[in-house]
Amino acid sequence: MQKLLSEIRDCTVCSEHLPMGPRPIIAGTSKSKIILVSQAPGRKAHNHHKAWDDPSGKKLREWLGVTDEEFYNPNNFAILPMGFCYPGKGKTGDLPPRKECAPLWHEPFWDHLQNVKLTLLIGKYSQDRYLKTISKKNLTENVSSYKDFLPHYFPLPHPSPVNRFWMVKNQWFDTDVLPELRELIATIL
Ligand code: SF4
Repeated sequence: MQKLLSEIRDCTVCSEHLPMGPRPIIAGTSKSKIILVSQAPGRKAHNHHKAWDDPSGKKLREWLGVTDEEFYNPNNFAILPMGFCYPGKGKTGDLPPRKECAPLWHEPFWDHLQNVKLTLLIGKYSQDRYLKTISKKNLTENVSSYKDFLPHYFPLPHPSPVNRFWMVKNQWFDTDVLPELRELIATIL
């Protein structure tokens, strides 16, 4: 795994499309229990070179019921975005993850994982790639039908503050889904 991670950290495959250059963010060990498949690092994560070190990360840890120490222990959580480098900004927010990244690196990363208990699919890009034909009509239906994807996958919305309207509109997520998610995470850890 260490050799693979250092190959990934040297990757420059799509550097010409990255406004701030390649700076892959990925973490994990062969013992990682929970795999976080998310979107792509934001600008702050790129600058600090640390995933989920922002309000979204704080909210995610609250959803999971874990401390910073538990979250950043790679034997607990592997961090596997759909694109490992900051893709830049578009008209309405960050651009999508670079499409070269997941087909190139996810499979080799999975080959090294030996202790996976659960994969959290955060946001539409990860759900499209991993749920494929078993995906429901949209992200909201995937999340509300999370029991259909257990014990392997648990689909989630992105915990970004810009998604607060989704949270307000779908209060069942807070009252019904999050307590079960926390219980599952506690059992695994
Ligand atoms: S986004 Fe992925 S494929 Fe592109 S340079 Fe970064 S690590 Fe390489």
